[in-house]
Amino acid sequence: MTTPLSQDTSISAPRGLCILGSTGSIGTQTLDIVRLFPERFRVRALTAGSNADMLIEQARTFAPDCVVLADTSQLHVVEDALRDTGIEVLGGEDGLCAAATWEGVETVVAAVVGFAGLSPVLAAVRTGATVALANKETLVVAGALVNAQARAHGSTLIPVDSEHSAIFQCLVGEHPDAVESLTLTASGGPFRTRPRETFDRITPAEALDHPNWSMGAKITIDSATMMNKGLEVIEAHWLFDLAADAIDVLVHPQSIVHSLVTFVDGSTKAQLGVPDMKVPIQYALTYPDRWPAPHERLDWSTLSQLDFELPDLEKFPCLRLAYEALEAGGTAPAVLNAANEEAVRLFLEEQIRFTDIPRLLEDALGRLSESEAHSYDALVHADAAARRGVLEQARAVLD
Ligand code: NAD
Ligand code: MG
Repeated sequence: MTTPLSQDTSISAPRGLCILGSTGSIGTQTLDIVRLFPERFRVRALTAGSNADMLIEQARTFAPDCVVLADTSQLHVVEDALRDTGIEVLGGEDGLCAAATWEGVETVVAAVVGFAGLSPVLAAVRTGATVALANKETLVVAGALVNAQARAHGSTLIPVDSEHSAIFQCLVGEHPDAVESLTLTASGGPFRTRPRETFDRITPAEALDHPNWSMGAKITIDSATMMNKGLEVIEAHWLFDLAADAIDVLVHPQSIVHSLVTFVDGSTKAQLGVPDMKVPIQYALTYPDRWPAPHERLDWSTLSQLDFELPDLEKFPCLRLAYEALEAGGTAPAVLNAANEEAVRLFLEEQIRFTDIPRLLEDALGRLSESEAHSYDALVHADAAARRGVLEQARAVLD
């Protein structure tokens, strides 16, 4: 990591952006940042899963070279609506990879949710682009592969996840050997104080009601089970090259301290701010510089208390399972991630209970076969097998 000594305030050519997942929570907030600095960014490519209407609206506002809808069944809607614009309209996974490698794209914002984001991120990394990474599942599933490809092609990953952005900011100017441990803070989610005996009655609506952050459905459920923090421990391992036992988790209900780094001399640095994803998104786009922006400031005079407590691993077994998967290595984190994506979907569809989520993950890890995670094909195979296993297991529970 380089140590910037001065801000680059010169007006340079606008930075070419591809936003993968532009219609989601991170994607739309990224476009809010672009709106703040219209002359400094040039949106070249936008992609969505299935929200054709929002993608069309974004295309008309930001005039990219290309847009991609992953769900090809709705592609004709986008094609018809943008026929008069000259914007290229693509579909499917190939389209996502084309967008991620589009000419003139310097930074790819990876804001697709889940395993679906992996192949376009790998494509982007292979062009040597800078990747502003929100899609944590990419590193959970394929951290070794993504890092190896990034090294080989000179691509830089900059974290968008607030905890990892906090750590990244604390590490500016520090030598990697000076780092002793990382502490990821966690809000604790909506069920931090709810009695464990009532967890099997938790409804999707209750789990979707996060106290501090407004995010997509999948990550909101992950926050409620604390699997989100587990995924973030694995993400931190690959971003910052530290072993599982040097990555701690601390529950901090106010979500003001976004994470901490403890150094070998006993000093600890933290990064603080109001919970607002626009700050880490903007930093990922402007690093190593900071640009003036009107994001809400912390009012220190009214901040009377910051609380911290250890996470309850009995109540939130998903966090323990993530540590176990990281220790197991190989395809274990990919299996955990795939099982979790399926379990969350089944819970949101009210097919399983909240407490079935960790049970299904534990089962999936129990069925794990020893395998390396260095090839994309091996990861795709592990992902698909884990998903099938969860569906079979869930069916057995339901019958
Ligand atoms: P979201 O559900 O709001 O948006 C996801 C985006 O991906 C949408 O544009 C959607 O159309 C697209 N998408 C979904 N499935 C797809 C598929 N199969 N193929 C292609 N595109 C698809 O999610 P989000 O909250 O913006 O989260 C995105 C990523 O960022 C996740 O990995 C999440 O863990 C991470 N993240 C989010 C936040 C947050 O505050 N929202 C914070 C930290 C990290
Ligand atoms: Mg986070």
